Amino acid sequence: MPTPRTRLAPSPTGALHLGNVRTFLVNWALARQQGWEIVLRVEDLDGPRHKAGAAEAMVDTLAWLGLNWDEGPYYQREDLTAYREATARLAELRHVYPCRCTRKEIQAASLSAPHGDQHELCYPGTCRPDANATIDVGLLGAEGVAWRVQVPSGQTSFVDEFAGPQEYDVAQTVGDFLVGTKLGLPSYQLAVVVDDARQGISEIVRGDDLLSSTPRQMLLYDLLCLGPPPTYTHLPLVLGEDGRRLAKRHGDTRVSYYREQGVSAERILGLLAEWCGLAPRRQLTAGEFLRAFSLERLPRQPAVFTKADDAWLLQ
Ligand code: GLU
Repeated sequence: MPTPRTRLAPSPTGALHLGNVRTFLVNWALARQQGWEIVLRVEDLDGPRHKAGAAEAMVDTLAWLGLNWDEGPYYQREDLTAYREATARLAELRHVYPCRCTRKEIQAASLSAPHGDQHELCYPGTCRPDANATIDVGLLGAEGVAWRVQVPSGQTSFVDEFAGPQEYDVAQTVGDFLVGTKLGLPSYQLAVVVDDARQGISEIVRGDDLLSSTPRQMLLYDLLCLGPPPTYTHLPLVLGEDGRRLAKRHGDTRVSYYREQGVSAERILGLLAEWCGLAPRRQLTAGEFLRAFSLERLPRQPAVFTKADDAWLLQ
């Protein structure tokens, strides 16, 4: 049996805040407790919002907190070949097709789709080819052409290690989703699957905002014949006092902000640890967290970041 492997996969589009750092901390601790190897992968494909130096700053923040890894950091943008090859393979197998629809057109057509996922539009299938039509692979890489997967109808089910049994109907909720964008870049869904497969990732631990992406990723594993998908552990998010997920609207919750204010890593870890079920709150190191934490202790409810927590950090 190969050694199980996991990954820390920060996106430099949003700086590391207390919420996503808690997920990384749990991921790291589970890996170190169970002997999984850890790959650090920076998901920097999200072009327009990418800020220079943000990726390096994230890596530095993780190390400052006391997290470590065995391989990487890898940067997705450094080499797009594997994603392009995967898209071409999907096109040759007729699993994907070119699409020129604009967001506006999709919006207009999907208003009537009753099952649209909260954050995403359900693609109405406008460009989906007939069963016998040929797929113009010559359009691969062409400007202004996106690529979509022909999503089969039916339910996908899986058992999440934390969230339990899940069932999704991808065709009904998001429809034929993107594997390639009009900018010629791989979509998040494709890039993550290509990387997880080639980096030998067998254990995925991440926020439960990505639960609904999992069946899409499992479908890509299947269509690309990548073998069995990894095991998934989706964790509840950290919310603000208004019940919405932690974001800029809740003030500056970046780890780097608290660090600049002179807050120690141990104090930040103390708050994160309490959110992971280790009470009472006390300052601790990543190593101490690792020895005390178990997934059974993690609350099933989202953690809530309060003004009092902020004051405790800054005291
Ligand atoms: N890069 C993604 C994020 O920061 C995580 C992707 C994943 O874990 O699959 O939200």
